[in-house]
Amino acid sequence: METTDIRSTFKDKKRIVIKIGTSSLTHKETGRLNLTKLEVLVREISDLRNQGKEVVLVSSGAIGVGSAAVGFDGKPDQLAQKQACAAVGQARLMMIYQKLFSEYNQTAGQILMTKNTMVDNLNRTNAKNTFNELLKLGVIPIVNENDTISTYEIQFGDNDTLSAVVAALIQADLLILLTDIDGLYTDDPHENPDAKFISIVENLDEHFMQMGKSTTGSKVGTGGMATKLTAAEIATAAGADMIIANGKDFHVIHRIIDGEEHGTVFVGNRKEEFYLIDYIEKLF
Ligand code: GLU
Repeated sequence: METTDIRSTFKDKKRIVIKIGTSSLTHKETGRLNLTKLEVLVREISDLRNQGKEVVLVSSGAIGVGSAAVGFDGKPDQLAQKQACAAVGQARLMMIYQKLFSEYNQTAGQILMTKNTMVDNLNRTNAKNTFNELLKLGVIPIVNENDTISTYEIQFGDNDTLSAVVAALIQADLLILLTDIDGLYTDDPHENPDAKFISIVENLDEHFMQMGKSTTGSKVGTGGMATKLTAAEIATAAGADMIIANGKDFHVIHRIIDGEEHGTVFVGNRKEEFYLIDYIEKLF
């Protein structure tokens, strides 16, 4: 399928997961929330809801926002400190989301997950049922890793992977990852001026996966391009299309849905033998 053809199908997507990284939500200088951008994000999502679409927001920012709130200069190194920061930051994030969504008559709910939520059969089924019920009720689920309790052994570690796992769990038909780069390049564009932008990936083979190894991403969030390609592997195998695009202006969300040329599209290609749990186990 031509890239313009696939993009023209995005307006018909019904169940959309949007992932926002810390660097797209906060001011670089202070680590505090960029409220102007958040207002645009919330308006864009509310408008998707008004079009009758179901939307799940995977929002990072708990540790970053909490660190700034309690006075750390950047994210702290120690686990207990990060967990304490997440406790403060997650609550603050949700407070702002609730406030902004209520201005558009939208209801938001919070789902915090760890790797165990997905590995344990009962927990996974419960999580899926909760997502489905929230969406049925017209609520916008806001998801993050449960950073306050997740230690190395049970954490996803980055929300790129988490968002793909959520997309697969709820059988979303589109996953939008908004980050601080325009999409996938053949090489790190900061280092190599000859790096070429890739608009569409129809078959995510080893050749493309290698590109993630040489490209870097944000210093604020935890996921670089490699984790985004892992996310693409999971999401596309589960049958969802995925886009990586620049989140410097959240108006890009409706532009993507309108089929405009933004970001790199990974075409969904549902594998007959797709078992989410196999992919999750491969990650750890
Ligand atoms: N869960 C982390 C947070 O909210 C962020 C993980 C990521 O940057 O992808 O701070």
